[in-house]
Amino acid sequence: MSAVHLEVEGKLYPSADLDWVYYAPCGCVAGWMVVGTDFTADQAWKHFNDGTDPALAKRDQKLGARMELHPRDALPELTKKCPHTPTWGVPARPQLTDHTWLVNDGYGARRNDKAHLFNDGSRRSLCGKHENRYGKYQAYEVAGRLECATCMRKAANVTEAAA
Ligand SMILES: [Zn+2]
Ligand SMILES: [Zn+2]
Repeated sequence: MSAVHLEVEGKLYPSADLDWVYYAPCGCVAGWMVVGTDFTADQAWKHFNDGTDPALAKRDQKLGARMELHPRDALPELTKKCPHTPTWGVPARPQLTDHTWLVNDGYGARRNDKAHLFNDGSRRSLCGKHENRYGKYQAYEVAGRLECATCMRKAANVTEAAA
């Protein structure tokens, strides 16, 4: 089997010597992965976001995120701590005391279920559309989930009012 070669800045490299480098919306390198059989940026995006909501990748691309091929020996120079605010150019989820971001759909959670901000006491989501039947700790991740826009907006209003 002959090795697949890919072009980076006019030079051909064996794909095994290359990595897909993920640039966050701020322009910093936020991750990378071996090329494997992901020979196009589209394949790399899909693989990189495996198991997460496809809408999340779309949002990040709209914010300026991109995927680039680089020879592996270029990586140490590329990967530095992100000095930007917000980190990675993506506004952080507002955090409220006595509230928790959760995906409230039990083990049947689909990857495009959104994260909502729940009041730990009333167990109602800020957007009013969901009730948390499962308690504060749940087995699945809210990372890789797009936030509910209404919960985001309401949480930001509360945070600003308190500041
Ligand atoms: Zn940055
Ligand atoms: Zn919500």
